[in-house]
Amino acid sequence: MHFKNIIGQHTVKQKLLESIAAKKIPHAQIFMGPEGSGTLPLALAFAQLLVCENPTKTDSCGTCAGCLKASKFAHPDVHFTFPTVGGSGSVSSNYLKEWRDAISTNPYLNVFDWVSILGAENKQGNINKAECVQILQKLSLKSFESPNKVLVIWMPEYLKKEGNRLLKLIEEPPKNTYFILVAEDSEEILGTILSRCQIVKVPQIAEDDILASLLDKHQVEPSKAKNIARLANGNYLVAQKMMAELDNNSAIVFLEWMRKSWKGNGAEIVDWVNEIATVGRENQKFFLQYGLHFLRECLVMPWQTQEQLRLGQEEINTAEKMRQVLDWSKIEAMCALINDCSYHVERNANTRVLFMDASLQLNTIFKS
Ligand SMILES: [Zn+2]
Repeated sequence: MHFKNIIGQHTVKQKLLESIAAKKIPHAQIFMGPEGSGTLPLALAFAQLLVCENPTKTDSCGTCAGCLKASKFAHPDVHFTFPTVGGSGSVSSNYLKEWRDAISTNPYLNVFDWVSILGAENKQGNINKAECVQILQKLSLKSFESPNKVLVIWMPEYLKKEGNRLLKLIEEPPKNTYFILVAEDSEEILGTILSRCQIVKVPQIAEDDILASLLDKHQVEPSKAKNIARLANGNYLVAQKMMAELDNNSAIVFLEWMRKSWKGNGAEIVDWVNEIATVGRENQKFFLQYGLHFLRECLVMPWQTQEQLRLGQEEINTAEKMRQVLDWSKIEAMCALINDCSYHVERNANTRVLFMDASLQLNTIFKS
């Protein structure tokens, strides 16, 4: 992975490059940022740079033996730890092939995508004791080909208390050994680990950078690209999934849901629920994502000009009508409800029950 292939994140890249140029690379860093912000691609690019034999000021060279191996995620001095699902004996090295395939295909993936690739959507990933023991062993060996050794730990949130086994190593790593932890949620990481790492904050990707990528790399038609960049909310994973969705009719379906929930006709709601229940979890997630975006725009509408609103003309018309029947607190309650739905869709809830219940709650909010 090259820095130049990372979407946006210019400031973060600059800071990382400066730390390398100044030879002030922290031995343990956490790249901390929300899903889809590119924390893992940044870690992969950084790791490649550390084992590149002829780095330039701005990137790894891409042609040396180190780069060729690192770009396939198969450099013997770049190690990976990530959540696995196979029980107490399960370690990352058992899943290296799947891991390499997955991050070659999409380094912006999330944990849900990853465990789905392992065929275990319903299981919680885990980084267990056996993995920690293996890390201690791996990093005690001399490096094989590069002067540097790197361990990328993806989602240290899953280490739980086992992380304590790594404290000493993180605090006093062997010479030229670098830890790059890639995380989303600092509250889920042991404080003892956090306090031993330099935190590199990675923000959401700027809307313009997502737009540029959709137009230049993926040749998405401009008006669709603008819509996706707006809806993705800085999350490149969401942008990719929206791109893949052939017919993005979330707006129509969402407005229909609002209308039916407002009317509160049981038979109509059941029809609508039966339809949404069949479109698949990924589409349900886009749909809810869209709903949140739409409601947030409704919230800020009174203070925005039409140009500032991230909505098309037809959506603005509907939003204006909705503002007449919904005050601030009701819209907020709907946002909370939809957020909650999204959470449960991701965790394999029965979507028929979920959307039925949500429709009834929406009706209560409308009528309250
Ligand atoms: Zn190189």
